[in-house]
Amino acid sequence: MAEPDCLFCKIVAGEVPATRIREDERTVAFMDINPATRGHVLVVPRTHARDLHEIGAEDLAAVARAGQVVAALGRDRLAADGITMINSTGAAAWQTVFHFHLHVIPRYEHDPLRLPWVPGPGDPDAIAAAAGALTG
Ligand code: AMP
Ligand code: ZN
Repeated sequence: MAEPDCLFCKIVAGEVPATRIREDERTVAFMDINPATRGHVLVVPRTHARDLHEIGAEDLAAVARAGQVVAALGRDRLAADGITMINSTGAAAWQTVFHFHLHVIPRYEHDPLRLPWVPGPGDPDAIAAAAGALTG
């Protein structure tokens, strides 16, 4: 079920640290370490799948539903004005981690985010605070 060299499999297994905000039987949601905006979350299936072409239908449905729940947290806890959801499948589509993930990106009126964003390191305290706001 887990790929030996897959970063997100290691996060799912708890072998690599991540700021987890929500999980269920099929999915784990955690904070992106290079947030595009405040509250940027990744939702992944527990079972390894490389991308949109490989993920099973039930896991895809579970990830979509978890993304909807996380989106509502962004709206309700972070006062997001909107949400951008993205999945990149394939290097040509900017996929860099080859374990399926759905980006749930809270959007704010007049935020400076333009796609594709150029990832830069996030401030750990700010990421932790956003996680606290999403889950507290
Ligand atoms: P993508 O480019 O669509 O494959 O997205 C991969 C995402 O994973 C990027 O937004 C990265 O910032 C994020 N990422 C990479 N490593 C980690 C990590 N250890 N913990 C949390 N997010 C990560
Ligand atoms: Zn994996």
